[in-house]
Amino acid sequence: MSEANRSAQSKDPFQLFGTKASSGIFHFGLALLSAAELPLLANLPLRLYNQDVTPSASDRPPSSFLRLLPKAELHLHLEGAIEPATLFEIRQRRGERPTQAEVEALYRYQDFQGFLLSFKNITEHLRTPEDYELVTYRLMQRLKEENVLHAEVYVSVGVCLWRKQDFAAIFEGLDRGRARGARDFGISLLWIFDAVRQLGAEAAQKVFELAVRYHDREVVGIGIGGDEQKAPPELFRDAYAWSADHGMRLTAHAGETGPPESVWGALNLRVERVGHGLTAFHDPDLVEELAQRQVPVEICLTSNFRTGLCPNLNDHPVKNYFDHGIMITLNTDDPAMFGTTLAREYQLAQQTFGFTDEHLRELARNSFEASFLPAEKKLEFLNLFDAAAAR
Ligand SMILES: [Zn+2]
Repeated sequence: MSEANRSAQSKDPFQLFGTKASSGIFHFGLALLSAAELPLLANLPLRLYNQDVTPSASDRPPSSFLRLLPKAELHLHLEGAIEPATLFEIRQRRGERPTQAEVEALYRYQDFQGFLLSFKNITEHLRTPEDYELVTYRLMQRLKEENVLHAEVYVSVGVCLWRKQDFAAIFEGLDRGRARGARDFGISLLWIFDAVRQLGAEAAQKVFELAVRYHDREVVGIGIGGDEQKAPPELFRDAYAWSADHGMRLTAHAGETGPPESVWGALNLRVERVGHGLTAFHDPDLVEELAQRQVPVEICLTSNFRTGLCPNLNDHPVKNYFDHGIMITLNTDDPAMFGTTLAREYQLAQQTFGFTDEHLRELARNSFEASFLPAEKKLEFLNLFDAAAAR
């Protein structure tokens, strides 16, 4: 990628959105690759569990053990969970007449840059509080299908503010969707407000102030996503300290596109969970630190694979982390964009890395343990989990 392109892209926060943005891709054992060197994703698996793709025999659906295992999901972006059918509905509701093929085309990408564009194009269709309500409700419906009992969901509030949307109204939509989903599907959902790190510490502070404002309405924590190489964790020290002082739980995407130093930086912000931590294994001291302190690491296998950050899934350090005693959880990140589900992530861990059923049970238990639920609620889930596992 040229320097000019880089600076042009940095003006567009969608480019820096969530976890996908990077001026270079971290490739294990190699230096940062430029976009031109990125492996093409054309040969990657199709979106197996979206409605328009039939799973093949060689890639069978997750076992009933995995589907029925009680799970929590801790790294999940609302905007990356919008299924094509829901997007279609939103556009129709607005009076547009998109064809199905047109909508499905938004979800197809051949490479990393294409993926970013898809993400941007999908997110731009979220406009009204009702849109946010619908996508929240649909997400909870999907979670129910695979026995995800609790989810902590990122909303890219930084993007809402950047787009000058009426966030107070949007939050009411989010809250209505959550309340309806809780009632209809019995799912517990907490929000994490995510800031776009490239927009800087001041913009992040505004996001975190909103999180504090809605703290008593199921907003539990804050996070930063985006290009770690352009905006290291240190920039956000004051904003994180302020958030912690105001009762927020702290997360950060770290070690996804950035080096191990970025994970150290996040730990220095006193984050309570690390999003991805993909590159941490390059630094044995860091692995040791994560294991010693039992800082949960939110692993997103399909995400790392499909964004090209880990072009060969076999190279993923997930099993290495587990064997070193790091407390890991499995997550989907952007399930509709990656064509995955949480049960599918467990299946991948089993098929690719040899996690046993017993291991996966442990990871599922971790997902409740590492949650930001209040102590008594967490205990309730853990008891429920143990009772289900004992059967
Ligand atoms: Zn993410």
